[in-house]
Amino acid sequence: MKTLIVEKIDEKSLSALGQIIKNDGIVAFPTETVYGLGASAYSENAVKKIYEAKGRPSDNPLIVHLADSADIPKVAREIPEDAKKLIEKFAPGPFTLILKKQPNIPNIVTAGLDTVGVRIPENPIARAFIKAAGVPIAAPSANISGKPSPTKAQHVIADLNGKVDAIIAGGDSTVGVESTIIDVTGEIPTILRPGGITKEDIISVCGRVKIDDTILSGLKGNETPKCPGMKYKHYAPDAEITVVEGGQKQTADKIKELVASDREKGIKVGVLSASHDEYGADLYIFEGINNQEFANILFGALREFDENGIEKAYVQMCMKDEMELAVKNRLYKSAGYRIIYAGE
Ligand code: AMP
Ligand code: MG
Repeated sequence: MKTLIVEKIDEKSLSALGQIIKNDGIVAFPTETVYGLGASAYSENAVKKIYEAKGRPSDNPLIVHLADSADIPKVAREIPEDAKKLIEKFAPGPFTLILKKQPNIPNIVTAGLDTVGVRIPENPIARAFIKAAGVPIAAPSANISGKPSPTKAQHVIADLNGKVDAIIAGGDSTVGVESTIIDVTGEIPTILRPGGITKEDIISVCGRVKIDDTILSGLKGNETPKCPGMKYKHYAPDAEITVVEGGQKQTADKIKELVASDREKGIKVGVLSASHDEYGADLYIFEGINNQEFANILFGALREFDENGIEKAYVQMCMKDEMELAVKNRLYKSAGYRIIYAGE
C-alpha cells in the first residue's frame, strides 16, 4: 500500500484526510500523548484494518477520539457527575474516560465490552483531523503491537509506512506517555492507566480516586484485567531493560557497577539516566530534570537503544513527583518488572 505522508495541514490536506476516513481508510495522527492510528469509530470494516496494520490482539479495545466534549453523548449513553467535573476542568487534555457505550459503537471498537474509552485530545492537528473526518475516530497508539508507543513522526513512519493510508507528520508529542485512563462507571473514579492527568489532578476535582493495583505490579496469574491492554507485553524493546530505583547517588553508583561488569563480558550497554555521571556505557541518554521530561523522551530512548544494537540498558529512576506513577508504569513493563532497588 502506498502511504500518503502529510506534512502540511491546510484545507486541501484536511479534505483529503477526511475523504480517506469516509472511504474506510486508516490514518496515523499526532496527539499530545502519543501518535494514534485512527479510523471511523462507526465502521467495523475500517476499524478491522487498524488491528491488522498493528498486529493487535482483537480483545484489546480502542479509544474513541472526539474534537468536542459536546459530542460525548454520540458515543456514551451516560455521563456521571465525576465525568462532567473532569471534562469541565481538564478537557481537552491527556485523559480517557471509561463510560457506558452507545449501541451504535460496534463491538470491534470496544472488544465486546459494554463500556467505551472516550478522549478529547488537545493537539490542534488531532482536533482539525477529527473535525475533517466528521465522525468519532477510534484509535490505539500508532505502533506495531508490543513496540514502544510513537512520540515522533519518524517512529510512526518506521513502524507503519506502507501499512496505512496516511500518516500526518506533526511535531513531537508533548506528554510522551499515553492518556490517563479513568473508569468513572463505578462509585469512585479509578485510574486504570496513569498519565498526564495525575491522581492529584483527579482528587482536586472529584475529591477521591482509586488506583488499580496492577499499575505497578502487573497482573498475577489468571487475574482478569479491567483495562484489557494491561495483560499484553508492552513497550518491549529488543534490549534487556533493568530499572535501577532509589536515591540519585545510590542508583548512579549501582548503574556504574553494573555497566562495568557487563562491558567486561563484552555486552553492549546503554544507560538512560537523570544525572550526568560518567557511566562508561556504549550509549548514554540524559533524561532531564523531572519525570515529565523523562516521559517526553522515554519511548524514543527505548527505540534508540534498539537502533544502536544495545543489548542491555539500565534506567535510573530517582525522581519523585506527580508524573512518577505514569513513568514507572511504562518503565516496569518495558523492563518486564526487572527492578533493582539501590537504596535511598
Ligand atoms: P492504546 O491507545 O494503544 O494504549 O490502546 C487503548 C487502551 O485503552 C488499551 O490499553 C485498552 O485496554 C484501553 N481501553 C480502551 N477501551 C477501554 C474500556 N472500555 N475499558 C477499559 N480499558 C479500555
Ligand atoms: Mg498502544
